[in-house]
Amino acid sequence: MAEKRDYYEVLGVERNATEEEIKKAYRKKAIQYHPDKNPGDKEAEEKFKEAAEAYDVLSNPDKRARYDRFGHAGMGGAAGGSAGGFSMEDIFSQFGDIFGDAFGGGFGGAFSNFGFGGRSSSRRVPRGSDIRIRVKLGLKDIVHGVEKTVKINKMVQCPDCHGRGAASEADIKTCPDCNGTGMVTRVQKTILGAMQTTSPCPRCNGEGKIVTAPCKKCGGSGLVKQAEEITFKIPAGVQEGMQLTVQGKGNAAKAGGVNGNLLVVIEEEKDPVLERDGNDLIYSLFISVADAINGCEAQIPSVDGMLKIKIEPGTQPGKTLRLRGKGIPDVDGYGTGDLLVVVQVWIPRKISKEEREMVARLGQSDNFKARPSQEERSFFNRIKNMFK
Ligand SMILES: [Zn+2]
Ligand SMILES: [Zn+2]
Repeated sequence: MAEKRDYYEVLGVERNATEEEIKKAYRKKAIQYHPDKNPGDKEAEEKFKEAAEAYDVLSNPDKRARYDRFGHAGMGGAAGGSAGGFSMEDIFSQFGDIFGDAFGGGFGGAFSNFGFGGRSSSRRVPRGSDIRIRVKLGLKDIVHGVEKTVKINKMVQCPDCHGRGAASEADIKTCPDCNGTGMVTRVQKTILGAMQTTSPCPRCNGEGKIVTAPCKKCGGSGLVKQAEEITFKIPAGVQEGMQLTVQGKGNAAKAGGVNGNLLVVIEEEKDPVLERDGNDLIYSLFISVADAINGCEAQIPSVDGMLKIKIEPGTQPGKTLRLRGKGIPDVDGYGTGDLLVVVQVWIPRKISKEEREMVARLGQSDNFKARPSQEERSFFNRIKNMFK
């Protein structure tokens, strides 16, 4: 995977740019690199996609905050990585909010049915729609990755007409409006000036053929609904909201078309014991006052079972022990996070009269008076800042 450019740099805005500035900058780039202004220009196409991806992240306050904090690593595969997919369809669907009525809504719309592969040929390739599902994952599945099988009701090609929609071969005729080319040409005024646009023939939906007698089973659509089991792998390290693309497992298209994709949105179940912070896990270990003073051995739950650690005598509350590599593997393969054990000293709330007297006696003893040195003070301040 090529090194990704900084999203702010891609759009040419400052890091503190307002939403409006980001929108404006993206609008400019989208017009500059729009595929219709740069036909066949691969570099422009890449820039167009890059800008769309940058805008997708920077226009969303949550994603932007994550990006500001963690950079591309924080985005995982959600936007354009190897696991995620940022299709032209996604890009054009953004255009509604970006361009509003300036393009009469037709700017993206007229072309949004084209996959990039289909654009170069004159005939429209029908594409099945995507199916989006949500999959809930516990911590164990996130750490190790998991294979899932789901049953989905989806459109498949009609077995009677093999997706052609016609009762018989003889019922398929060349479309008289476009003479079988599937395209009609017209001149349109847009804010880019007059543009000659070629769009799919409305009569035959760009297919170049019309059906004179529809198939009885599917009513001419070429598609029927059917349940199908789909198995896919979820890599280790995924995060809440991440979207994986299972190529070609969405709804089918009519004959000659390509399937849509199955989009899997990750839902992360909160673990009751281990808290996630990026690829690190945090465990709060409670020990007694006596154990904090005398030291002890403690059992730490991890994703690979219990781990034994040693608590040194005189351990202060808030002390953090780092168990390297016991966290979550990075979804892009950049190492594995750590398990952070934050030591908490349990102060009993209810004690007997006898205990109260014992504690009072201890409190009189010289070593039990709270007198942190300058060094210890700065240690606690560091901890405080860490968890702010
Ligand atoms: Zn036609
Ligand atoms: Zn049929």
